[in-house]
Amino acid sequence: MSREPGQWTADNETRPAPAPLDRVQSLVNTIDIEIGQDRLTRPEDARPWLIGRGLLGADAPLTDADLGHLRAVREALRALLVQNAGGPPPARGDVEVLSGVAASGCTRAVIDDNGDVELRPVGESLVERLGELLVVIRDAQRDGSWARLKACANDDCRWAFYDQSRNRGGSWCDMAVCGNRLKNRDFRARHRAAQ
Ligand SMILES: [Zn+2]
Repeated sequence: MSREPGQWTADNETRPAPAPLDRVQSLVNTIDIEIGQDRLTRPEDARPWLIGRGLLGADAPLTDADLGHLRAVREALRALLVQNAGGPPPARGDVEVLSGVAASGCTRAVIDDNGDVELRPVGESLVERLGELLVVIRDAQRDGSWARLKACANDDCRWAFYDQSRNRGGSWCDMAVCGNRLKNRDFRARHRAAQ
């Protein structure tokens, strides 16, 4: 992962999910926990990103409360990705946050000239637009790609990555960084225990 100052880590995603599931991944990865870089802390950082991702209308308001809610949604989504990586099921509070997204989100079916049907968001506000991410998740759960979107097993990292491995057994965002660091830590712990 690139971590040069002034850059957002997620702008250089090394293990991206296929579209549109990458929209969920990119929301979860708006924070780099290891370096404490959070795109959803200041409205001036969050607004252009949200508008670019279709999660906020160009003229819609964005309050600090909205951002607090969005950070809670982000962590609830991360809890689902922890489960995808073989971790525990999401806490009740996380499920409640996502139930709130389902209740206040607003989508409408549209049909194109080929007869293809899509669900699109209705409304300009963040809470209305967030509901579309649940549609993305539902589709990914049906086509099987959902199980490959995981949170890194390193508690200090928890980066969302797409596991392309054949056996879907990947646990770390980046084997060279998180995987080896954990292995070394386990090795040192075993070494100490043996002494
Ligand atoms: Zn990691």
